[in-house]
Amino acid sequence: MSVKSEVKLEFAEVDSRLIHISERISKDLLYLCPLCKQEVISRKGPQRRHHFAHKPESNCSASEETILHFNAKNYLAYCITAYEMNLEEIIFNIPIGLLDESIQKVIQILGIQYYPLSLYKLKSYYHFSRAKTEQRIGNYVADVLVKCEEYSDEYEYDDEVIDRGYFLFEMRVSHEIGEEKERDLLESGIPFIEAIPEQTERGYTFRVTSMSLYSLLKDSKDQLIRLLSTHFEEELIQVGKNMFNSTVEKELRKTAIERAIENVDDLNLRDYISKEQFASINAIEAKAYMSEVHQTVALQSIRYKTGREDKSYISINEHLYWVRSENILYDVVKKLDKQGYKVELLIGGYSNSSKSKVVGFRFQLPDRYLYGEQLKRIMKAGLMDLLNNVNEEEE
Ligand SMILES: [Zn+2]
Repeated sequence: MSVKSEVKLEFAEVDSRLIHISERISKDLLYLCPLCKQEVISRKGPQRRHHFAHKPESNCSASEETILHFNAKNYLAYCITAYEMNLEEIIFNIPIGLLDESIQKVIQILGIQYYPLSLYKLKSYYHFSRAKTEQRIGNYVADVLVKCEEYSDEYEYDDEVIDRGYFLFEMRVSHEIGEEKERDLLESGIPFIEAIPEQTERGYTFRVTSMSLYSLLKDSKDQLIRLLSTHFEEELIQVGKNMFNSTVEKELRKTAIERAIENVDDLNLRDYISKEQFASINAIEAKAYMSEVHQTVALQSIRYKTGREDKSYISINEHLYWVRSENILYDVVKKLDKQGYKVELLIGGYSNSSKSKVVGFRFQLPDRYLYGEQLKRIMKAGLMDLLNNVNEEEE
């Protein structure tokens, strides 16, 4: 069933006034074809779509495209102005390609090719008040020019009318809107729809080919988001949590580790190590062979003293003496050597002697501050490993 063969005239002129086929037809009045001005008769049978028909002898040259264009724009103007029409049934199908990318994706998921926008929604959103066909606006002649007005309070008698500008419709049947015209329209900021009308059993549907409905679509998008968030709150929170886990948390962990690496140098490790722990970290005990330890005492002084017969001895803490001092020295050197510390022998002697003897030892012991630096290097290396692990984690 082709649309073209369906096209029948739906409007006639009576006393220079256009009436629709659905209106009451009087047998006493003369109805004229609006295109050729010849007489037409109403056909309101039960079988076919109601329409006006030319008489058999008519020579009306209007093509079906011309009639469709005429019908469609006048039908739109008629519906907008007439109060009793059901505007929910007049649908503008917007191909999803014309929509904002994010809305496109949502609608695609639902398997929908067209976003259906009713004339009712357009009328209430833009505050359509009345419509006329073939109206000039600036340099432009609109197929349907709609005046938009809002009443500040519908229930007040003398309420204020707020001017909401214009809306316009272009019916595309045999010609396109034209790039230049479309650009002028877009620049004018006037919301518009250009569409191809298609006749249906009940009226028309319109396939949108171009449009500027920025604020309406933005509001629809916001409504959609609100609606989704209301109905899928739990699910969305879960999705949000998962996203948080995989991206935000990963970033936070990286930042935390990076900060820790930066701050390792500022740590005073002594704050975390007790005196006893620090003392035992590298303590080496040396004592005379076979001797027993009864207690430990801190060293306060160590010095040579001269005793009886001018014999010198070493006094420790003023009242203590060595037990087998050579034995103790032996144990110290041996233990340090065994633990891997470098022990060098100092060879020499007193100036009046030519014999080479061991006059002392050089122990290469680590600086106690170096321990802290080493610990910090170890901590940094460990943290760098953690950071690399986070970076290598699968998305
Ligand atoms: Zn005609």
